[in-house]
Amino acid sequence: MTTVGHLINGEMRTDAQRTQDVFNPSTGTVSKQVALAEKATVEEAIAAAQAAYPEWRNTPPAKRARVMFRFKELLEQNSDRIISLIGEEHGKISHDAAGELQRGIENVEYACYAPELLKGEHSKNVGPAIDSWSEMQPLGVVVGITPFNFPAMVPLWMYPMAIVCGNCFVLKPSERDPSSTMLIAELLHEAGLPAGVLNVVNGDKEAVDTLLTDERIKAVSFVGSTPIAEYIYTTANANGKRCQALGGAKNHAIVMPDADMDNAVNQLLGAAFGSSGERCMALSVAVAVGDQAADTLVSKMKEAMGPLKVGAYSDSSNDFGPVITKAHQDKVVGYINSAEEQGATVVVDGRNPQVEGHENGFFVGGTLIDQVTPEMRSYKEEIFGPVLQVVRVESMQEAMDLIDAHEYGNGTCIFTRDGEAARYFSDNINVGMVGINVPLPVPVSYHSFGGWKRSLFGDLHAYGPDSVRFYTKRKTVTQRWPSAGVREGAQFAFPS
Ligand code: NAD
Repeated sequence: MTTVGHLINGEMRTDAQRTQDVFNPSTGTVSKQVALAEKATVEEAIAAAQAAYPEWRNTPPAKRARVMFRFKELLEQNSDRIISLIGEEHGKISHDAAGELQRGIENVEYACYAPELLKGEHSKNVGPAIDSWSEMQPLGVVVGITPFNFPAMVPLWMYPMAIVCGNCFVLKPSERDPSSTMLIAELLHEAGLPAGVLNVVNGDKEAVDTLLTDERIKAVSFVGSTPIAEYIYTTANANGKRCQALGGAKNHAIVMPDADMDNAVNQLLGAAFGSSGERCMALSVAVAVGDQAADTLVSKMKEAMGPLKVGAYSDSSNDFGPVITKAHQDKVVGYINSAEEQGATVVVDGRNPQVEGHENGFFVGGTLIDQVTPEMRSYKEEIFGPVLQVVRVESMQEAMDLIDAHEYGNGTCIFTRDGEAARYFSDNINVGMVGINVPLPVPVSYHSFGGWKRSLFGDLHAYGPDSVRFYTKRKTVTQRWPSAGVREGAQFAFPS
């Protein structure tokens, strides 16, 4: 059986003392093994990055960007291979995996723009014959730790920009679906990246803890669940590192009584059930304002969910695929059970989907739950499955208070025809990414991505302009070239 290894100093390595099963969630069978890096292997990767750094740092930004131009072309040429690896190990249907890859490629396109982004600021004549400028210097060796749900896109949020800014990188991807991530890293080397600039180590907590405590690492980007994000952030900070740690979510959509209900239902379908709800921007709660809007929404959703097709990644007519593991399937079903036990109404029940020919796959069908209240466990916690819960409120203010009171603040959306209400909502809601009649307001690559509250630990968001700030440190130089023969006497007052 194939073992997915590590990419260290430009070489694929499959030596491993510990390994873990990688599943095909559509069939429920083990398809590969993944190596789990020991401390010593991670340290080799860090050393390779450290050794590559001096030369890479001094490579002109335009040359660094040229590698990214070639990388983008290779990603496009190899898209079918990448999409099929994502499907095999994550379970995403090809149309969804293609969307993920495209979003990743857009981050590479933005990284191509680095020479422009790194120009810095210049002021002439800040004093007599004095000029001043600020430049952005790379940090050194930086790290990315990424989740299973976007094995192609989330690493591409991180290392293209980090590398093009002059840093060297160690990536620790999710051990649950590593193959597309590894293929993409190999393509970057095929594009001309020097050995050691990007290293990929597969692994678990041992690998992560080595990265978090090694003093050669200057910054850590993390995307994953909130408890781990908090641990990464506090540990990285305690070890003197810059850190951005993006966590989990519970994204609410307010459905106003004046909304175009058919449009809202269509948008909710894709945003709640696409990718089996395993997206940090998935809409998992619909907050209906007024009972009439709630009744209409629930009955239209129920009808629209009838033809939803859950099934294997290999059939592109399916709407969404399995969840990632058997344990996660059980967890999602457990949340549906708990909502029912706590008094909610399961309107469409996806607990026992029949997927012919794939009886052992980790499937959960689209599920709709009405009469959910904020005290319920299924409301408080992130389910990360194809489950849409409906909470009924009396007013828009009540809906906004509900959203503001939730622990998470990643994304949210309002469906309405009222511009004034939408403007008030987007201005005042305590959430980092807001959609107005847009269910998945994932910012494009030249804006930045990040939630508020316990959906993000740190100050700077992922990708876009914030990523240039995250992966560089500012240096400001003040320079004087006095005319020949002009000498100033000692000044004891503060220079002004
Ligand atoms: P996870 O937190 O289990 O794992 C993320 C990474 O952390 C993996 O690389 C994993 O190996 C590592 N890790 C896991 N446990 C660890 C531990 N105890 N110590 C050190 N490292 C550890 O997340 P996941 O299940 O892979 O991904 C799903 C989660 O990610 C969801 O909560 C989802 O909302 C979140 N997510 C957030 C965003 C965002 O942008 N906010 C984007 C995608 C996913």
